[in-house]
Amino acid sequence: MKMCNIHTVLVFAVVLAASFTPVHVLEFCQSTDRDCHSHDKTSSDTIKSRWNRTVSNLIQDLDQFSVSCEKLIEAFPIDEVDGNFVRTVKNCIFSRSIPTPLKGPLRLAAVSKDVIEGILDLDMAVTQAEEFLHYASGGRLLLGSDPLAHRYGGHQFGYWAGQLGDGRAHSLGQYTNRKGDAWELQLKGSGKTPYSRSGDGRAVIRSSVREFLCSEAMHSLGVPTSRAASLIVSDQPVIRDQFYNGNVKTERGAVVLRLAPSWFRIGSLEILAQSGEVDLLRKLLNFVINEHFSSISSEDPDKYLVFYSTVVNDTAHLIAQWMSVGFAHGVCNTDNFSLLSITIDYGPFGFMEAYDPNFVPNTSDDEGRYRIGAQANVGLFNLEKLLMTLSAVLSEKQQKEANIILKGYADIYQMRIHQLFKAKLGLLGEEEDDDYLTAFLLKMMEDAQSDFTMTFRQLSEASAQQLHDRNFTQMWALADLSSHKLFSDWLSLYLLRLSRQQNDSDADHQRRMRNVNPRYVLRNWMAESAIRKAEENDFSEVELLHHVLSSPFVTQETAEEAGYAARPPQWAKRLKVSCSS
Ligand code: AMP
Ligand code: MG
Repeated sequence: MKMCNIHTVLVFAVVLAASFTPVHVLEFCQSTDRDCHSHDKTSSDTIKSRWNRTVSNLIQDLDQFSVSCEKLIEAFPIDEVDGNFVRTVKNCIFSRSIPTPLKGPLRLAAVSKDVIEGILDLDMAVTQAEEFLHYASGGRLLLGSDPLAHRYGGHQFGYWAGQLGDGRAHSLGQYTNRKGDAWELQLKGSGKTPYSRSGDGRAVIRSSVREFLCSEAMHSLGVPTSRAASLIVSDQPVIRDQFYNGNVKTERGAVVLRLAPSWFRIGSLEILAQSGEVDLLRKLLNFVINEHFSSISSEDPDKYLVFYSTVVNDTAHLIAQWMSVGFAHGVCNTDNFSLLSITIDYGPFGFMEAYDPNFVPNTSDDEGRYRIGAQANVGLFNLEKLLMTLSAVLSEKQQKEANIILKGYADIYQMRIHQLFKAKLGLLGEEEDDDYLTAFLLKMMEDAQSDFTMTFRQLSEASAQQLHDRNFTQMWALADLSSHKLFSDWLSLYLLRLSRQQNDSDADHQRRMRNVNPRYVLRNWMAESAIRKAEENDFSEVELLHHVLSSPFVTQETAEEAGYAARPPQWAKRLKVSCSS
């Protein structure tokens, strides 16, 4: 073990550990808590009537479902120019933009019951009606909808890129559900807007399947994220050069109906500061703080500083969580970083398989700027850009304090990584060498190229005796890891560490570990296989993946049969994803 360069490894471990929020895990009834009471003392009749009552509470008819755009439209000046033609937009936050309907026939490729019922209060039956296809793809507007495209800018791959904006997304309005939670509904792939630049305003099936599945999967992993309600595919031809190599293909258009408490990004503020629109910058900041940062008082003279501090903290936590599940976003530009620190804008993301800090999911990212091991640093870069933006509204003293806050980012991240990886190893309490134990393991995994997800999962499934005996039949990732010459050294340290945990049995720590180490993540090959079928209008595998990934910590027979926890197939090695979507 002395040969591990602990410093290097720890730096990466620090960059790698992800935040562990002990929610979601094993909460089988997350959004429909009414279903969670079958074990209570109520008679089955009472349960049935409660169920019926709940069902009838759900909205049965889409014509009865309404959204509101008033808040945004009243709060901000709207682009005075109308029409979906490309232009430079100034002095506003949104442009009015009507979606362009997809050419039919339209098909419902996927739908999230959790979102439809649990967030939108809609009866699932409404998704089976013909009109749903139109509402969820831009052909028909929900009651109250006044669709908007958002003006934002951003730093892309390190450089200021100027005006970007919603080039193929339309915000439909806000829905406040019966729990009192407000969600912004948005279509992605719904046609051109003033921000489409040279794009066609469309999204293809492959990227839309990936966004639908990954946002729902991340939610089930406990990672803050936007959500996806539905995926509609069409026969509309969409031309794409997937790998920018001249191999142009005709694909098909698709639209995802997605939701977030807010879609504002770092780039939403940046464009205002860059173009000297300081009053509007202040207005947007006040709005975001009032709406989404309830603990910050609008009277607080330091409110922008407290806001910044919250974003710094939450971004560190989010990236730590990404790292704990081996998620690489792929395009960590400031326009893709949410001010609410949720994962947004799924593109060429990837879940790391063989453990490798240099894993780059996006083949268009030649320099590996957004490699998995760089995400924490990129977060820091993006927060620096946010600070530069806020400088316009901060006093000199506040700017100094903000710089101190930013300096604390690394420690927050490191603390969260420490917690998350300790949880992944089932460790309780604090011991001096805990980080070393993690770093040592990660270094071995890197050398042995052992699978990130399954190594941790199988460590959660193997008993101490099995580990001791190296009985790794069926445990392919651990078998790979155990080929490392230092495996025995690490294992002795680990088993000793576990044995020092008082009142903690094998079964106890295995249960804890299984609740934080998923057995199933959306590997590229799994998404690819589902996409190939979806392109032939067979959505069965999208449905299967959606179902399996909604309980990623629970072993499932169908998933095992599909090989989702098995060694990835050989053909998976050749798969590539790019920015083209
Ligand atoms: P992304 O990399 O998907 O986050 O997109 C970066 C910017 O390009 C955003 O302003 C998008 O709206 C815009 N964009 C991406 N694809 C298209 C497209 N097909 N048509 C119009 N705008 C697009
Ligand atoms: Mg984006």
